[in-house]
Amino acid sequence: MKIKLHEKDLPNNLNFKNSIAIDTETMGLNPIRDRLCLVQISKGDNVCHLVKLNSIKDRPKNLIKILKDKKIQKIFHYARFDVAFLKYKFKINIENIYCTKIASKLSRSYTDQHGYKDLCKEILGVEINKSSQSSDWGNFILSKDQLKYAATDVLYLHKIKKELDKMLLREGRHRIAKACFEFIKYKTDLDLLGWNDNNDIFKH
Ligand code: MN
Repeated sequence: MKIKLHEKDLPNNLNFKNSIAIDTETMGLNPIRDRLCLVQISKGDNVCHLVKLNSIKDRPKNLIKILKDKKIQKIFHYARFDVAFLKYKFKINIENIYCTKIASKLSRSYTDQHGYKDLCKEILGVEINKSSQSSDWGNFILSKDQLKYAATDVLYLHKIKKELDKMLLREGRHRIAKACFEFIKYKTDLDLLGWNDNNDIFKH
């Protein structure tokens, strides 16, 4: 794995064609309260680009351009969280979303283990270390362990997607998966408007 750390934005010369794996690290779980600290992106070529945002005023133009590009598929694990954060922070809409957590829940109904770590282990046979998950991502200087952890979170998403797509097709769940991915942009709007899990509009 190759890690490229960028301050405040992606460089101008980077070209992401069809799809990117993407993840974020934040100061907490609340997009309105908490700061977005890091955005990780990979083409699935073992190179992970980390964009470090140091202030709430940072507006990364190149990164935002990629996020808004409907032609680029964005592969997340638990897209609901990252999409809500990115939409709220940059006041943008994000389309063409894929979520490996939803794909896993729809295809692997024999288990309740749908974490990124679980998918890496079962689908790819790779053990990953999640010990930096709840660390101080707001620090001006991130540790080697934090950088490695953050990059690893996007490293395997393309491979996981490929295997989950086969399972979705095999189980006849690919259409409902696609509909769920398309709904994420509205689901995150509901979350940001206050209709979250405690106030589920689909519930009786
Ligand atoms: Mn992460």
